[in-house]
Amino acid sequence: MANLNYKCPSCGGPLKFDSNTQRLLCASCGNDYDPVALEQLGADGQTKEDSFSFDGYSGEEMTDGVVYTCPSCGGEIIGDENTVATKCPYCDNPTVMAGNVSGILRPDIVIPFKLTKEDAKKKLLEYYKGKTLMPKSFKDENKINEIKGIYVPFWLFDADAEGSASFRATKSFSWSDRNYIYTRTDHFSIYREGAASFENVPVDGSTKMDDATMEAIEPFDLSQAVPFGSSYLAGFLADKYNVDEKESEPRAGQRMKESITDYLRSSVQGYETVSPQQASAVTKNGKARYALLPVWLLNTKYKGETYTFAMNGQTGKFVGNLPCDKGKFWGLLLGIAAAIAVPLAFVVNLLMG
Ligand SMILES: [Zn+2]
Ligand SMILES: [Zn+2]
Repeated sequence: MANLNYKCPSCGGPLKFDSNTQRLLCASCGNDYDPVALEQLGADGQTKEDSFSFDGYSGEEMTDGVVYTCPSCGGEIIGDENTVATKCPYCDNPTVMAGNVSGILRPDIVIPFKLTKEDAKKKLLEYYKGKTLMPKSFKDENKINEIKGIYVPFWLFDADAEGSASFRATKSFSWSDRNYIYTRTDHFSIYREGAASFENVPVDGSTKMDDATMEAIEPFDLSQAVPFGSSYLAGFLADKYNVDEKESEPRAGQRMKESITDYLRSSVQGYETVSPQQASAVTKNGKARYALLPVWLLNTKYKGETYTFAMNGQTGKFVGNLPCDKGKFWGLLLGIAAAIAVPLAFVVNLLMG
C-alpha cells in the first residue's frame, strides 16, 4: 500500500486541507479542490510507486520507529507503526500512509478541522487573560514552541444501558408550642431504575493521548462528520488507533454507567438529605464506529517544565494546565485573609482558574 502525497492536478504543487474553506488548497497556484471529488479522480495517488509494502503499512521497521519513503522526493520519513499522516521533512509535502487507513484500519468517519493554527494561538492568549496567578513572563507568545494539528483516533460507541440505584433520604419538620420545639424527621428508602440508549460515546483509541485531556475537550458535533477520505488528512498529523475496539469497550461502558447513575440520582428531589446506597448498571448491544477527530495540541516550556494545552479543532473548546506563580499566590491569599467575608470557594476558583 502506497504512501500518498496530494498534488495539485494543475501545477503539481503540494495540496493541504484548508480549514476555512474545507477544501484542498494549492499554495503554489492558488487552485482549490473538493476533497471528495479529488479522491474520486484518483488525483490523490498520482505517485503510487513506492519502495515496498507489507503487513498493511509500507516502510521499513526500525527498533524505535518505522521509516516511510516520501513518494515525491524519496526522502526518509521517520514515524512509527501508527503514523497515518505527517509531512516529509525534506520536501515538506503532506504525506498519508495509505496502508494505515485501509482495510480494517479504515476509519468510518472524520470530522475535518474547522479551526486553524491561528485560532489555536488566539485561544491560548484568551485563556491566559484573567489568569491572575500566572507569571507575567509566561504570557509571552514566543513561549509557544509547538502547535500541532492532529487527527486523534476515537471509538464512538452506541449501546443500551440499564441501571438501578437505591438511596436513603430524609425530610424534617419543626413546630413549637409554649414549652418545646419539636422536630420530626422522616426517613425514606428510595429505589430508582431506568434505561437509556447512548449514541457516539467517545473513547480515544491512542495511548499517546491523555484520556482526561481528550474527555475535557468534548463534545464533538458528530452531525458535521463526513465519510472518511484520506485527503482530509493532508497537512495534518494523524495516528491510527493502537487501542482497539474491544479494549476501549470497558471505558465506554463505564462512562455510560456513570451517566445513567447521575441521571437516577438527579431524579431524587425534594429531600433534605440524600445518600446513595447502591448503584448498578449494565450495557448491551454495544457497537462502535472508528473516527478521526481534530485536535490542536500546543506545547510550551517554562522553567524546564512542559505545559500542554489542547483545543477541540472543531469547536474551539480549550483546556490546559498553567504554571502558578507562588509569590503571587501568597500575596493573593493574604489579601483574601484580610477580607474575612470572602468565601472559601472564591479562593478555590482562583486556584483552579
Ligand atoms: Zn497548483
Ligand atoms: Zn519528500
